Order: sequence, then C-alpha cells, then structure tokens
Amino acid sequence: MLLDHEVHAAEFERTFIAIKPDGVQRGLIAEIISRFERKGYKLVAIKVVIPSKEFAQKHYHDLKERPFFNGLCDFLSSGPVVAMVWEGEGVIKYGRKLIGATDPQKSEPGTIRGDLAVVVGRNIIHGSDGPETAKDEIDLWFQPEELVTYTSNAETWIYGVN
Ligand code: UDP
Ligand code: MG
Repeated sequence: MLLDHEVHAAEFERTFIAIKPDGVQRGLIAEIISRFERKGYKLVAIKVVIPSKEFAQKHYHDLKERPFFNGLCDFLSSGPVVAMVWEGEGVIKYGRKLIGATDPQKSEPGTIRGDLAVVVGRNIIHGSDGPETAKDEIDLWFQPEELVTYTSNAETWIYGVN
C-alpha cells in the first residue's frame, strides 16, 4: 500500500538534469534550478559531483562515434556538476523545452540555453531526451535510495484535485 506522501508522486515521470561545469563555474545553479522549480516540477534528488572521464564516457556513450566525444567527456569531467532528478507530468519532454536547442545559437530566447549560453560546446545543462535515456541516466548517476518520494502541498495547486 502506498503511504500518504507517495500517492501523487507515484504517477509522475522523472528526468535526469545536470548543470555542467560551465554552468556551475558561472554561478548559474540557482538560476537553472529556479526555472524548473517555478514551472511546477519537483526536485527529488540532487548532488554535486566531479565525474571521472570514464563516467562521462558512460553518460555520453551514445555519442562515442562523434568527433566531439573526447573533448565533451574531458569537459564534463573537468569540474563539479550538479546532478538532479526532477519529477512531474511531462517533465522529460517539457524539460527539454525549458533547456532549449542543443546549439545555443539556435535556442529560442526564454530557454535556458537561449538566455544563458552562446556556443554548443559550453551549453551549461544536460537533460534526458526520452523515457529510456531518463531511466538509464537516473540509474547511472543515482542510487535508488538517493531519490526521495514525497507529495508537495503545492501539487494540489499545480495539478488540481479530482
Ligand atoms: N555537442 C558538441 N558539439 C556538437 C554537438 C553536441 O560539443 O556539435 C555537445 C553539447 O554540449 C551537447 C552534448 O554534446 O549538449 C550532447 O549532445 P546531444 O546531441 O545529446 O545534445 P543535448 O541532448 O545535450 O541537447
Ligand atoms: Mg543528448
């Protein structure tokens, strides 16, 4: 049986979001978290880590044939990353909308990359691109016990009640 605080949370999807070393060094942690939080999504895991190069290669394994792969993995492992799991209805797809296009030259104003980044190699944030990658990335970056299941009181106001 679900506990009271798990009733709503069990219905929502989760995505993996990371503030890359450039976003951390530029002092954009609070700005980025604030955009997800104000939207109405719920933070269920967060930690600061410096990933090893091997770990970065695992995270970006889909891109290993691309010419930028080595530099990308060097970069991701070059400093602290803020790793997070955000939860909410449609958060995987809409999280990507909040983030904006991969190349900040093409990201719309109003998106995180559109407002806060200039070049593709320093685009400050990562977000899972679909349900399968979300699950894989959450499993890679977090232990199950690091994810917190709870119902926020704001959910009644964000989603309404039946
Ligand atoms: N990237 C790059 N050069 C490129 C394309 C991508 O440096 O031409 C980097 C960029 O930081 C991007 C990451 O590789 O965020 C992963 O690429 P992907 O296509 O998965 O973009 P994302 O899902 O981050 O929008
Ligand atoms: Mg991607």
